[in-house]
Amino acid sequence: GAHLKSVRNSPTVDELHEWDRLHNLKPWSMMNTWREEDGQIIDRGDGIYMWDSHGRRMIDGPGGMWCVQIGHGRREMADAISDQVMRLAYSSPFSTGTEPAAILARRLAEFAPGDLNTVFFTTGGSTAVDTALRAMHFLNNRRGMPDKKIVISRERAYHGSTYLSATVSGKERNRTRFDKENRLVHFLPDVDPYRRPEGMSIEAFCDQKVDDLEQAILELGPENVGAFIAEPILCSGGVIVPPPGYHKRTLEICRKHDVLYISDEVVTGFGRLGHWFASEPVFDIVPDMITCAKGLTSGYLPLGACIISDRVMEQMTGPEEVLFSNGYTYSAHPVSCAAALKNIEIMERENVLGHVREVAPYFQERLRSFEKFPIVGDLRGMGLLGCIEGKVTEGRSSLALDSDFGTRLDTICEENGLLLRPLINMAVFSPPLIISKAQIDAMFDIIEDALEQVSSEMEVDG
Ligand code: PMP
Repeated sequence: GAHLKSVRNSPTVDELHEWDRLHNLKPWSMMNTWREEDGQIIDRGDGIYMWDSHGRRMIDGPGGMWCVQIGHGRREMADAISDQVMRLAYSSPFSTGTEPAAILARRLAEFAPGDLNTVFFTTGGSTAVDTALRAMHFLNNRRGMPDKKIVISRERAYHGSTYLSATVSGKERNRTRFDKENRLVHFLPDVDPYRRPEGMSIEAFCDQKVDDLEQAILELGPENVGAFIAEPILCSGGVIVPPPGYHKRTLEICRKHDVLYISDEVVTGFGRLGHWFASEPVFDIVPDMITCAKGLTSGYLPLGACIISDRVMEQMTGPEEVLFSNGYTYSAHPVSCAAALKNIEIMERENVLGHVREVAPYFQERLRSFEKFPIVGDLRGMGLLGCIEGKVTEGRSSLALDSDFGTRLDTICEENGLLLRPLINMAVFSPPLIISKAQIDAMFDIIEDALEQVSSEMEVDG
């Protein structure tokens, strides 16, 4: 505002913290305390490490936000970005193409399973999800089925933070005080094997969850249901790995009722589970659309994509003139596409996917070893994705929203040089994919010490 004095160019660390606190409203801020909270300012990164403004080094446990696959501070990335800026920083994506966009689209079609050959570039994951849902609207309007628009999603799912992608996200906490278009969304109960009824087998649980989807389609009427959207592993909702066969069977039900299956691979794509996309090699499905972002550029620049099957594209295309009026100024941004290509080149040259497949069993084994702590309720994950959930006091059936297990763990880990991502009663981690076995040990050693400390604190507190 006008009352603020203009500022010098090189602030002190204290000034930086103050300006950040007073003027930079962060995503997911607690509105009662946001001005008081003195958050960290991250200054630089190298490999799996980041340094804060006080010069403290931390392992980047969340890999940025599940996205820094090749690690921080890669000179080659800087060079590729700089070269593309000098060659062509920007051109309108509307009807013109660029070399990096054309090559990247071709590469994504190659990585995507089955007949998913058409790529629509977006600015990130949320806009990729919006694009998938708008494509479904467009498709069903064209097919003369204007009522076939309901999206079936799941409790605890996260699909983004635009109006539409937030509407199909199932985390209740994120909906408080926001309006949403709820006529077009139906939520299935979450698919959390840890919370299955006492004594129920994992197979019976899977049957029940698959049946939830079919019943919902039948009750809503298949003529009204346009799409089912699911993360292969429900990530922000707590790294929830579905029971074996769940995705394959839900996809079959979608096909049976002419419902599109959208696989949201924003987190699981680009190597997190050891493959470019997890849908086919890990979960044995060829969906109708795949959304991706994050690891596509290893977080160096923003970019997302919605990859669409030939079958869907054929139905979206026709003899008459109908405009698919969807897109962004920064769709297929040439510099972002150049960053994605360099990221892919590095991942191929360093065999990052093979590395993930090689170290993931060890990563998961160390995670599972925390079973020995009575304060731990569940340990789960896959690939280089993991989650520790604190034991809830009122039994396995409810989410203890008031538990600070995740925050406590996070505070201690941070003091000892590991950044985590606390999620209420959980702590999740998804480190850079280039993490070595020794660095995995360093990470889990810090967590183990922290678990010991939290155990004794929680005993004292009761
Ligand atoms: N889908 C999933 C599965 C995600 O995890 C996220 C981001 N955490 C999004 C979509 C939204 O992506 P973005 O924040 O890039 O818009």
